[in-house]
Amino acid sequence: MQCRAGCGACCIAPSISSPMPLHPFGKPAGIHCLHLDKENKCAIFLHPSRPRVCAGFQPTEDVCGSSREEAMAILSEWESLTEPVQPSPEMRKKAEFSPDFKTDASLSAVDV
Ligand code: SF4
Ligand code: SF4
Repeated sequence: MQCRAGCGACCIAPSISSPMPLHPFGKPAGIHCLHLDKENKCAIFLHPSRPRVCAGFQPTEDVCGSSREEAMAILSEWESLTEPVQPSPEMRKKAEFSPDFKTDASLSAVDV
């Protein structure tokens, strides 16, 4: 399918971990990318600083749906389904007492 003019949902709903000129630490989910222009087009579309993940994203009906609202809903759901689970303080404490617990410093090259 062709990208829908004025949509921009894939530049708003998902988080993007790659650095960009105006988001040096990446973009959180649900936030307009600062590189979106007033027409919801990427202002750095042809620039080498555009993240590869953006360049590789292709419009498809199962992601983009039939409207911007549908695309926002689908992409937001995907974002929440793939969001890493943050351990609660209780879970973390339990893990620290586990014999398998490793700090970042104790991870060997084999572990990472
Ligand atoms: S969600 Fe799909 S239709 Fe909307 S801007 Fe992204 S690629 Fe284009
Ligand atoms: S850099 Fe461009 S393509 Fe990537 S999220 Fe921002 S506006 Fe969208």
